[in-house]
Amino acid sequence: MSEDEEAVELDHVEWYVDDDGTEFFHHAGHRYELGEDGYAYDAGPVGDATSSGADQAPMGPDADATTEMPVAAAPTTQLPAASAGDDGAGDGTVRISTDDNGGGSQMASVVAPPQGVDRSSAAGNGHREPGDVMLRIRGLRSGYGNLPVLHGVDFDIERGSTAVLLGLNGAGKTTTATNICGSLGVWDGSIELDGQDIAGWGIKKSVDAGVVMVPEGRRVFPDLSVERNLQIGAWQQRKDTDWVAQQREQVLEYFPRLRERLAQKAGTLSGGEQQMLAIARGLMAKPRLLIIDEASMGLAPVIVSQVFSIIEQINEDGVTVLMIEQNVGALDVADVAIVMEQGTIIRELHGEELSDRALVSQTLMG
Ligand code: ATP
Repeated sequence: MSEDEEAVELDHVEWYVDDDGTEFFHHAGHRYELGEDGYAYDAGPVGDATSSGADQAPMGPDADATTEMPVAAAPTTQLPAASAGDDGAGDGTVRISTDDNGGGSQMASVVAPPQGVDRSSAAGNGHREPGDVMLRIRGLRSGYGNLPVLHGVDFDIERGSTAVLLGLNGAGKTTTATNICGSLGVWDGSIELDGQDIAGWGIKKSVDAGVVMVPEGRRVFPDLSVERNLQIGAWQQRKDTDWVAQQREQVLEYFPRLRERLAQKAGTLSGGEQQMLAIARGLMAKPRLLIIDEASMGLAPVIVSQVFSIIEQINEDGVTVLMIEQNVGALDVADVAIVMEQGTIIRELHGEELSDRALVSQTLMG
């Protein structure tokens, strides 16, 4: 990877706040500050008296640790440089990536859309059309190191539908999801989005194609405000300011609690609110297919119901949804349940089968 292709994995960034309230992090000996526009700007070498706040001791772990920050492997677009005279092409730039995609990573995805992908249809992709397959997975095999986890997974997701990938712990649901969103490599098989095999595309191209994942564990940037988290979600769309403003409004209509808390640090939100923010941030990435991993995990039942009903609304507004769940309550908003066990699909449930809880339990328990 060339230096020009360097991207910081934001999950590995320690964000600090100085006495002026400026959010910043250190990377490769430089200090980067978060600007009003939500982008990170190079404020100069750490320890350089001319760089703003460079004399501030960061809160938290030793700043030296940030010099070993892992970088993303895929090419990205540059961020603007802060200092006058720096055109962003030299040492004074950093590229951050802000997709909220699986594998726990939040990486910048700022490359141009891949050729052949029609972005005009991204988001608001219309109603459900039975038989119109958006995602087709065949013979998917993958795993970690030498450990096979998926042993030939096959299923389809229809455009405009809500599908739930259901299974017990360790069944391979998250592994499947991370394969789809490109954050985990595929060993064998195909993942076709609108007839195009996206297996091996990686996160950035997949997001460009409209495949966005909200990872398990409500991964928000805790030290950043709700507003900044939303801005970061819209990173790849940032030049389309009209769309971003419109989508922000739409997202805040789904989640009015977030509108009330735009200036609040995400880390101080309740668990339910953080889950809402994680989904909202995913929506800011302009998904056609939104994959939501364990939205219900750790939430009170009443909050789970709220979250599920908002997901239902998002789907009705045109986004195809794949929920990864253990909570059978998700079936109330689903068109299909795809049941997984030990790395394979063992059954699909449709229609009235979805409300037959005895059948669902029996299928889940094998
Ligand atoms: P859960 O609901 O508990 O998250 P899941 O159905 O999503 O379960 P996966 O997370 O896909 O299951 O895990 C499937 C298997 O892969 C498990 O045996 C797990 O231990 C293993 N596994 C998951 N992630 C890794 C990893 N990064 N390295 C090695 N093994 C992993």
